[in-house]
Amino acid sequence: MKVSLLRFTDKPDLTAALSAKVCYSNLEIDKIELDNEKCGNILRKVLKSGHHSVIEHISFTFAVEGISRVATHQLVRHRMASYSQQSHRYTKIKPESFVLPNSIKNSKEASTLYLESIKNSLNLYEKLIEMGIKKEDARFIIPQGVSSNIVITMNARELLHFFTLRCCVRAQWEIRELAIEMLKFAKEKAPIIFENAGPACVRGRCPEENPCNNIAEIREFFKKL
Ligand SMILES: Cc1cc2nc3c(=O)[nH]c(=O)nc-3n(C[C@H](O)[C@H](O)[C@H](O)COP(=O)(O)OP(=O)(O)OC[C@H]3O[C@@H](n4cnc5c(N)ncnc54)[C@H](O)[C@@H]3O)c2cc1C
Repeated sequence: MKVSLLRFTDKPDLTAALSAKVCYSNLEIDKIELDNEKCGNILRKVLKSGHHSVIEHISFTFAVEGISRVATHQLVRHRMASYSQQSHRYTKIKPESFVLPNSIKNSKEASTLYLESIKNSLNLYEKLIEMGIKKEDARFIIPQGVSSNIVITMNARELLHFFTLRCCVRAQWEIRELAIEMLKFAKEKAPIIFENAGPACVRGRCPEENPCNNIAEIREFFKKL
């Protein structure tokens, strides 16, 4: 999987802090001056008190290539976002367009069976297309491991929520990998908004019924990210 950052709101931390300051200032907006320290103080204060609407002004657009349909099916359950996904109605599925999970890759027997099954599905897919069946119907035979490309736009509020759910070790490995790559970009561009981003245990108690009992290591990982 390849994750890139396509676009993001200019000066995200400052823009969010300015939006917060507008709520409490008598000054005209272009007269409001914020240095780094004021920006950090305002933003941390509003985020702590739950006024998260100010970070909805900040958005990030990511391009993701080579992600499986297994993962994108979970991704698009996040409704406060915009998506554009490569269509298998219009593009042809190729033998290299499949994700091979490590658990399968690490077993010679499992990977042989997996690759053989993909080959058989692709042979049938090609045969159906040769018979005049449209790609939109021939694709029904394709396994869920098939990869595609997707563009994602989320605002910072939704990103924080997405990171809470999908950076957790309880999330499926591929969407977790995606969430961690997205968080790296978000943290680099908006270090204050995302300073405590990650699974819930980074900020406090783990809400899971069966916690992973690895909180110290996880906190350290996300602090260093
Ligand atoms: C570890 C894990 C396991 C999962 N397992 C399953 C499973 O087995 N089966 C399954 O079906 N799903 C499963 N899911 C998906 C999960 O149920 C959610 O659909 C998904 O995580 C999106 O979360 P969300 O609805 O909070 O977020 P979003 O859609 O991103 O929405 C963000 C927030 O906006 C608000 N919101 C959005 N839409 C509405 C609305 N219509 N009404 C009111 N408030 C709204 C809510 O506060 C919501 O939390 C799993 C998710 C995770 C992380």
